[in-house]
Amino acid sequence: SATKETLGFQAEVKQLLQLMIHSLYSNKDIFLRELISNASDASDKLRFEGLSDSALFENDPELKIRIAFDREARTLTISDNGIGMSRQEVIEHIGTIAKSGTREFFSQLSGDQKKDAALIGQFGVGFYSAFIVADRITLTTRRAGFTSEHGVRWESEGAGDYTLETVAKPARGTEIVLHLREGEDEFLSDYKIKSVIRTYSDHITLPIVMKKSEWKDGVETPTDEDETVNRASALWARAKKDVSEEEYQEFYKHVAHDFELPLAWSHNRVEGKQEYISLLYVPSHAPFDLYDRERRHGIKLYVRRVFIMDDAEQLMPQYLRFVRGVIDSADLPLNISREILQNSRDIDAIKAGSVKKVLGLLEDLAENQPEKYVEFWNAFGKVLKEGPGEDYANKERIAALLRFASTHTDTDAQVVSLKDYIGRMKEGQEAIYTITADSFAAAQHSPHLEIFRKKGIEVLLLSDRVDEWLSGNLNEFDGKPLKSVAKGGLDLGALEDEAEKTAQKEAEDAMKPLVERIKTTLGERVKDVRVTHRLTDSPACLVTGEGDMSANLERLLKAAGQ
Ligand code: ADP
Ligand code: MG
Repeated sequence: SATKETLGFQAEVKQLLQLMIHSLYSNKDIFLRELISNASDASDKLRFEGLSDSALFENDPELKIRIAFDREARTLTISDNGIGMSRQEVIEHIGTIAKSGTREFFSQLSGDQKKDAALIGQFGVGFYSAFIVADRITLTTRRAGFTSEHGVRWESEGAGDYTLETVAKPARGTEIVLHLREGEDEFLSDYKIKSVIRTYSDHITLPIVMKKSEWKDGVETPTDEDETVNRASALWARAKKDVSEEEYQEFYKHVAHDFELPLAWSHNRVEGKQEYISLLYVPSHAPFDLYDRERRHGIKLYVRRVFIMDDAEQLMPQYLRFVRGVIDSADLPLNISREILQNSRDIDAIKAGSVKKVLGLLEDLAENQPEKYVEFWNAFGKVLKEGPGEDYANKERIAALLRFASTHTDTDAQVVSLKDYIGRMKEGQEAIYTITADSFAAAQHSPHLEIFRKKGIEVLLLSDRVDEWLSGNLNEFDGKPLKSVAKGGLDLGALEDEAEKTAQKEAEDAMKPLVERIKTTLGERVKDVRVTHRLTDSPACLVTGEGDMSANLERLLKAAGQ
């Protein structure tokens, strides 16, 4: 038709497709999970938009996903009557990778197939995974609310380009036809498709229907009768004992858009003032968009099983932004908007309760599955360190979950808790000593540590960017002050013996003339010059005033152009 045009894929899409087809082939069944997951998301979106505009349902309110195959044509078709896409949306969502974190992803690709395959899994492949089994895909879609002549057909062989044309599409939603590659005929089987659905997509809340098959003359033949293949009930609403480990895991992959298994989860039915169900997961790896403001996935909010919104950021604080899952409220109104969420006491109560569940889950991991906690810490420790500054009410609990590098182990592995540290404090030691620097090596070799090493006093070595923010917000733990060894006059108090104090006094008197000369020479450039006994090997070191920002923070701000 006159409106048919050919468009090129974004260079990244081509690269991603190539990589994916090769690296995920051994796991190819998952394409069906991805397409079903998208159909389910599209139906959720329609349900949500339909809350304020019921005309979008167009006399077709029963949302479902249909799967059909045609042995003659060698096609497999997945269709939904969800929200559909406009022409512009097709270009944005199917022709480009619009995801946040894309740049990080591509910058980490190494060319080593194994490593890259793992990266792809973390990035999430979604729609494109269909090209693992198909050499041509025809996607026809019409957005809810548009008239039937405003359908769009997208077609591609997954190489360099795709075509777009405007077509009539009476039924709302999206239909995806996979033209199977040579040798992929196993997906033309009722039995195979059902078993893939039951393995990966049983948790999908809306019905996945197929035409019932009958055996005729030794061949499976579709009849006219529909049958629902999945369980089609909200997994989180079931009792814990009725959900298997695998079901929890597959559900996670759907809500988190992740290929990997979750690290841990917490499933709760909360009763009382606020009644809600939460199913919260801690992923096993950081997503590519952890530090991206545009990131999309987080907590999905439902009200009595009706999907309300994705990434309801009011339900989790920033420092727990890695948590994925579902919260389903029994009390909130269905027409709740993001604006209402922002100043709702009910939401605050649900958030506070959910934060406690997550902290409890992490405490449990730290206590009972330390290897898993290490995995968690390596993925999300830097984010959790934002906690004490953000969540005053849970400061102490968060602080107990923090892990640091320290002079005790003298490696950069962050494995020391504040509790461990306190357990090793010297007789008479009153403070928890820390040093911040812009690299682990700089912290470890700082001259400020000399006296501490000599006396065998442990110092926490802080070198993550967020550590400055953390030190500013965490002044004490378990009644013990946290003190930077690079700030102010160092008073080791009871840790010093009398002989040392006398010797020091004597040295100070003897050095007075020298100190005066240095002061005059340096003039305005320093606040003060003092004789110190903190050093054992180095001749001199710089310190900042007790109340001043640390030298490291000053460096960071300067680097940021402030
Ligand atoms: P993700 O699901 O993680 O966003 P996908 O590659 O699976 O990534 O899908 C990309 C986007 O394409 C989706 O976010 C959605 O906007 C759009 N999309 C895919 N399938 C459908 C569908 N069946 N109906 C409507 N939109 C869809
Ligand atoms: Mg998807």
